[in-house]
Amino acid sequence: MSKKETICSFCGRPKSQVRLLIAGISGHICDHCIIQAQSIVKEEIPNGDLEIEGGENAPLNLMKPTEIKTKLDEYVIGQLSAKKTLSVAVYNHYKRLNQKVGDDDIEIDKSNVVMVGRTGTGKTLLAKTIAKMLNVPFCIADATVLTEAGYVGEDVESILSRLLQAADYNVQAAERGIIFIDEIDKIARKSDNPSITRDVSGEGVQQALLKLLEGAEVSVPPQGGRKHPEQKMVKVNTKNILFVCGGAFDGIEKIIARRVNRQTIGFANEEEERIDKDNLLEFVNPTDLKTFGLIPELIGRFPVLTYLEPLDKAALRRILTEPKNSLFKQYVKLFEIDGIDLKFDSEVLDFIVEKAIEFQLGARGLRSICEAILTEAMYEIPAQENPEKEYRVTLEYAEKQFSQSKMAKMKAA
Ligand code: ADP
Repeated sequence: MSKKETICSFCGRPKSQVRLLIAGISGHICDHCIIQAQSIVKEEIPNGDLEIEGGENAPLNLMKPTEIKTKLDEYVIGQLSAKKTLSVAVYNHYKRLNQKVGDDDIEIDKSNVVMVGRTGTGKTLLAKTIAKMLNVPFCIADATVLTEAGYVGEDVESILSRLLQAADYNVQAAERGIIFIDEIDKIARKSDNPSITRDVSGEGVQQALLKLLEGAEVSVPPQGGRKHPEQKMVKVNTKNILFVCGGAFDGIEKIIARRVNRQTIGFANEEEERIDKDNLLEFVNPTDLKTFGLIPELIGRFPVLTYLEPLDKAALRRILTEPKNSLFKQYVKLFEIDGIDLKFDSEVLDFIVEKAIEFQLGARGLRSICEAILTEAMYEIPAQENPEKEYRVTLEYAEKQFSQSKMAKMKAA
């Protein structure tokens, strides 16, 4: 046995003496030990009730689109169009999965989705909520860190490693999971001219992604990355994985406006009235994504395209209180654990929303603003001997706490 040879962390057998050595997070296990462990499990759990959450045999909740939309309403405010489009895409995707091979010659295509909308409007939240609802493995990958194989950065296969981890290394479960690729717009070709010199970060990654999207058997390093070169590759088939992409596509409104204007020359008056200039995203179509810099092959693999509306004051206010696990509900719960009834004056809500808009943070900013207002109280109250049973946050208190916060000071500086 050479000095560096990997061994089974359970029985100590070296790699050369076993048929299979599978890498775990901090060790390895050989085929002998797996077989032995399996018989112990069978003995200890005789009824064979071994179902893993999201596992191969877990029931797939095939919900109707209207049911999916209603469930999404519990967590996501507004975004009616995106909710409907996604609900249908997901429903069709899982119908496709349940389809028996050989029923007839009709094979349903995948319904991968692209969502266009400003940051913090709910793209990730929508995808995450759907995965939770369906009880399938889910992971988020950031397109900006991906590179073509051989360059510094993460290979596209690393996305599958993450999904595999989310599925507790259950390959069959991972193979019907959902992958959310964030910031897909950041890998756009820098120029609309395809003949321009090769663009490593953009087009190369798009090309590399094609392989995953079209449904291929991909060799995946279970722990991801290149840090563990000795790990045994796992084969994952991406045929039934649903890909959902999101991006802000900064500046796409101009592209849409240009296209729409070109199309409406001649009957401008009538059309102009119909087109809501404030929300041009509503009219986004695949050619706009192409003009933005996504390659046609990639666009072709995302047959479903939808948009998210910017969040206005009213939506932000609702986000604070209405979703099932809204920020307010979370803070009320935190205080409740200390036996205290937390109450907010309604002007406090308006104040938080105004600050979120002022700081241009959208829904993402709501949390940091709430923290700025409540940290002092959350620090002091647990130390009090006999705290009041009710804690009321007034506008005056909120303004004072916020003005003393790091956030406010950073802006002032
Ligand atoms: P992005 O569009 O950038 O993917 P996210 O979905 O990550 O945005 O949203 C960030 C946070 O803001 C979420 O965790 C959620 O708390 C809140 N949020 C954003 N949009 C909505 C929405 N439409 N309804 C409810 N919460 C939202």
